[in-house]
Amino acid sequence: MQTEAHEAMFYDKLKDGSVKCRLCPWNCVIDDGRAGYCGVRQNVDGTLYSVIYGKATSVAADPIEKKPLYNFRPGTRVLSLGTYGCNMRCGHCQNWQISHVIPVKDFTSGKTFKVVEPPRSEEIPPEKLVTLAIENDCAGIAWTYNEPTIWFEYAYDGAKLAKQNDLYTVFVTNGYINLEPLAAIAPYLDAYRVDIKAFNDDAYKLLCKVRSMQPVLDAAKAAKHKHNMHVEVVTLIIPTLNDDDKQLTGIANFIKNELGADVPWHVTRFVPYLEFKNYEVTPVETLERAVEIGYKAGLKYVYIGNVAGHPAEHTYCPKCKKGLIERHGFSIGAFNIDEANQCIFCGEKIDIT
Ligand code: SF4
Repeated sequence: MQTEAHEAMFYDKLKDGSVKCRLCPWNCVIDDGRAGYCGVRQNVDGTLYSVIYGKATSVAADPIEKKPLYNFRPGTRVLSLGTYGCNMRCGHCQNWQISHVIPVKDFTSGKTFKVVEPPRSEEIPPEKLVTLAIENDCAGIAWTYNEPTIWFEYAYDGAKLAKQNDLYTVFVTNGYINLEPLAAIAPYLDAYRVDIKAFNDDAYKLLCKVRSMQPVLDAAKAAKHKHNMHVEVVTLIIPTLNDDDKQLTGIANFIKNELGADVPWHVTRFVPYLEFKNYEVTPVETLERAVEIGYKAGLKYVYIGNVAGHPAEHTYCPKCKKGLIERHGFSIGAFNIDEANQCIFCGEKIDIT
């Protein structure tokens, strides 16, 4: 299939015909004819193109709780989209069939790429996103399933249109994005659901093959404080890789001190998979220890994920500790917050967007 490519944003043309992509901290220098680390941004005759613009591999109307976002527009549905490629190579990626696919196998010179089309992708122009969201009773649009940063141009255009049509917008991200593109899309992004996968560079290298976690932390801080997005953090806890008190305390303290006590932390259960198939399932006690660490650090909202029916999937009032939002999987039960975002029992202001 021949696919029209879309010129990339955030790159420099270099004298020798190569280009430097400035979208994510890899800052790839890409020779003519080659693609960057993510596999979806390709240099053709000295111009960098996105070869995935408008190409969706997965589209669904999901509950916002599935992202997971628990303190953002609870109970709403969100049109969720993913595409190919990623700028990380997590050895346990649940969506590896799309994220580890490099769609660019060949190209013909000029501005048309020859893309080997893996199954299940469809062309969705940004204008159609709004229609799809409304038709499917969705209050917003989420770029999710794989890393939205590498789909930047499409997400940027789609997010702009979404905001013009009163839809909210969400990035479900690994956070590996440079600050300049983050600032560019920030006016059109409402929520930033970011993974903090570990709390030292060695663990980050092992888990997802990037050199440093610092860019993830810097982007999360910018999203929260510079761009005023709603931020929630997820840590998938993998026994022996990131379940020690030092890393968990490090993440909890980072959230509390650098993002804010109001930022929810989701600690989720790992199930052995792919490269990490020999690791153990996360014991529930480990997740409960992480919850304790989170509250001890001063966080107001710490949630356990991937453990059906666990009491820590509900929202509790940080002051009176009574139940505020009851969850059953991705469904909402009792909702004890009034229209002024206050606990109906004690009047405490609750940090729900
Ligand atoms: S977005 Fe892709 S091409 Fe650009 S720097 Fe990151 S990995 Fe490299």
